[in-house]
Amino acid sequence: MSLLSVIVPCFNEEESVTDFYTELMKNQPYFQEKKLDLEILFIDDGSKDNTVGKIKELKQKDDRVRMISFSRNFGKEAAMYSGLENAKGDYVVIMDVDLQDPPALLPDMYAYIQEGYDSVATRRVTRKGEPPIRSFFARCFYRLMKRISKTEIMDGARDYRMMSRQMVDAILQMQEYNRFTKGIYGWVGFQTKWLEYENVERAKGETKWNFWKLLVYSVEGITAFSTAPLMFASFMGVLFCILAFALIVFTIIRKVVFGDPVSGWPSLVCIISLVSGVQLFCLGILGQYLSKTYMEVKRRPIYLIKEEI
Ligand code: UDP
Ligand code: MG
Repeated sequence: MSLLSVIVPCFNEEESVTDFYTELMKNQPYFQEKKLDLEILFIDDGSKDNTVGKIKELKQKDDRVRMISFSRNFGKEAAMYSGLENAKGDYVVIMDVDLQDPPALLPDMYAYIQEGYDSVATRRVTRKGEPPIRSFFARCFYRLMKRISKTEIMDGARDYRMMSRQMVDAILQMQEYNRFTKGIYGWVGFQTKWLEYENVERAKGETKWNFWKLLVYSVEGITAFSTAPLMFASFMGVLFCILAFALIVFTIIRKVVFGDPVSGWPSLVCIISLVSGVQLFCLGILGQYLSKTYMEVKRRPIYLIKEEI
């Protein structure tokens, strides 16, 4: 028998836990036929509602349920890392509890793994049911990443992915504090099969992401997988040096030919404010990388466990 670990990060999901379990169990006949044992590892990411209670109820019904409960909300990235670290399976799959990652895809995924793929990933080809502004910025983010990062990051990729033990171990070797899993998957390589599906709207409860959180997350992704913004800062520096030099030449010639060095106060103000804006912007870029380095150097744990069953 092989063991399949299903990792399920949950944050305030009391409404979804039971439904998720029911839906997942619809695959039970398939698992049995394939002689696949199951381990369902719920990661409670510091929920404030009755998520833990619901998981414990499931545990009483089904011994294959396990739970790791964090001391506070550490974020989905930390939850996924903890899941990967604690999963015992030969194969591991990460799924959202809100049924946006359809469990009906599991047989297909497993079939591809058996064919020899190291991982089977999913991507949504539509973004139906999402605010248009959010889709727009998401598209911009992926387009930008494609240009500035060598790591492949697929547009619309979900965290829903089945992996072999070998790939999980590779991911676990990346112990960075600022985690951006979508990039990490690409970075470790291995052979990935992409499954596409139409976006499924969340069954119950509400999304934990708002626009601001997503924006911060995208900056995290950029700084974690590209140093192009630093290059851009240096480039702007050079560009403005050249411009300044041209201006000096221009001013000298004007003085010599027309004898008027004093006028030009408005243009001076424009130049000063533009250049100081660019300077602050580049300083901000530097600051982003510095702050990430700072957090990385502290070597704080990625998550803390309060309870484990
Ligand atoms: N989640 C988590 N910690 C968080 C936020 C979310 O573990 O801080 C979990 C959440 O319970 C869900 C999954 O991550 O299982 C995806 O979250 P959500 O559905 O809110 O994101 P979306 O699908 O809208 O991108
Ligand atoms: Mg969701």
